[in-house]
Amino acid sequence: MTSLLDGLVVASYGKRFGVEIKSDDGESRVISCVTRGKKTDLACGDQVQVRMTSPNEAVVEKLKPRQSLLYRSNSMRSKMLAANVTQVIIVLATTPSFYEELLNRCLLAAETANIRAVIVLNKCDLGDAEAVLARLEPYTALGYTIQALSAHQDITPLRQWLKGEVSVLVGQSGMGKSTIINQLLPGLQVRTQEVSSVLDSGKHTTTAAHLYHLDAESALIDSPGLQEFGLHHLGPDELEMAFREFRPFLGKCRFANCRHLKEPGCAIHEAVASGAIATRRLDYYQQLRGEIS
Ligand code: GDP
Ligand code: ZN
Repeated sequence: MTSLLDGLVVASYGKRFGVEIKSDDGESRVISCVTRGKKTDLACGDQVQVRMTSPNEAVVEKLKPRQSLLYRSNSMRSKMLAANVTQVIIVLATTPSFYEELLNRCLLAAETANIRAVIVLNKCDLGDAEAVLARLEPYTALGYTIQALSAHQDITPLRQWLKGEVSVLVGQSGMGKSTIINQLLPGLQVRTQEVSSVLDSGKHTTTAAHLYHLDAESALIDSPGLQEFGLHHLGPDELEMAFREFRPFLGKCRFANCRHLKEPGCAIHEAVASGAIATRRLDYYQQLRGEIS
């Protein structure tokens, strides 16, 4: 039996994965891998151990513990977006208009995964960038970083946030995600095609997630364009924790099992009355609380 090799999942096509392994000479290559049995619970960014089954194919034998795992879900099932990332970069644009709901859900998912979120407003060369930036002001107040960008003109403002991090790029289609990735990684199309031909999954490229190395310490995971971002995987405790400004007040309500809906002596409601929490954030929390229960 061949020995186990350390690898990094750099492409996920649902049932088939691209795993990068380093040869003894330090060169790395991507091999096509499947998981054992029906298990397919791997995500881009996962650290694994594989066993070669042919010169270019292997089976994943072992998954190493994850530092983080970013999920999204619909009412049917939850989906892993990326593993071991240190931050999520949420790509918005001045035009077409973005769904603020999607932004909020991405932020909550990042909080739950305990990773940093950076909001990028792309296409600042178009439309009324000032007005959109003003609309994002409440998120700055919550402590989130907003980076204005025009990927067409200059990608450098984004680089400072990527340095030393493993980032996953998320956003609805049309916001400029592909443009950003191509600016950061010239010659990338070629790489993606190589990987997908190794995996023989050319037709699935648009739905696949890919990990790209930016330099020795920094990597970027591209996830397919999102139109919805379910949070059904969150329980009530995770949900209230995901509203980062709620945290100082949690556990201070009169009732230990307070849902922060209409209970008397609710510390969250008191914080809203005193202006420490925005009314619309409580409204939004209550809406989601209704959805998950
Ligand atoms: P994706 O669906 O998020 O991958 O978006 P794309 O990268 O395909 O971009 C959607 C459209 O927006 C394309 O026509 C891009 O050329 C355009 N676009 C992307 N970034 C910018 C930008 O910074 N400024 C302008 N004016 N257009 C952009
Ligand atoms: Zn309460």
